[in-house]
Amino acid sequence: MPTILSHAVVATAAGQWWRRMPASFWRWTVICAMLPDIDVISFSFGIRYEDMFGHRGFTHSFFFAAVVGAVASWHLSHRSHLRTHPSHPSHPSHPSHPLALFVWFTAVTMSHGVLDAMTNGGRGIAFFAPFSNHRYFFPWRPIQVSPIGAGFFSPRGLRVLASEAVWIWVPSAIIAVSARVVRRR
Ligand SMILES: [Zn+2]
Repeated sequence: MPTILSHAVVATAAGQWWRRMPASFWRWTVICAMLPDIDVISFSFGIRYEDMFGHRGFTHSFFFAAVVGAVASWHLSHRSHLRTHPSHPSHPSHPSHPLALFVWFTAVTMSHGVLDAMTNGGRGIAFFAPFSNHRYFFPWRPIQVSPIGAGFFSPRGLRVLASEAVWIWVPSAIIAVSARVVRRR
């Protein structure tokens, strides 16, 4: 994985394209981006990395992302203040439409595995779990893999942060700034 925070940085940056979303939207965005790595607890149950429910397995799949996307969008669209925006009463394609939220949270959850598949270490991502446990990497993997559970103040940790700064934080900043510029027009 890139460090867990970088997953949230990407999602929060891309989220700048949404308008006036409530705090719960941002909470779910951060949760969805980081949730797939909950599978590291599998190590303490003796589940091997390469197993279906091992690290980068099921919780990094499209299937899992769609389930999480459904739960998050259901939760948000059942909050009445999101259903209508008084300032946009006639805006039919308002982004808080449940389907738009579903696509968003599925994509955010999926962005986690996609970033992992661009790291230069560990095992690949089981994108098609639970139907297949084949592990995939992208051919282009510029991101230094982050050590699992290790501190960042080692030379290796600093290399990881430097590579994430270049490949994740800077592109995220560009996405966030351009969203704000476009929205201001
Ligand atoms: Zn991961």
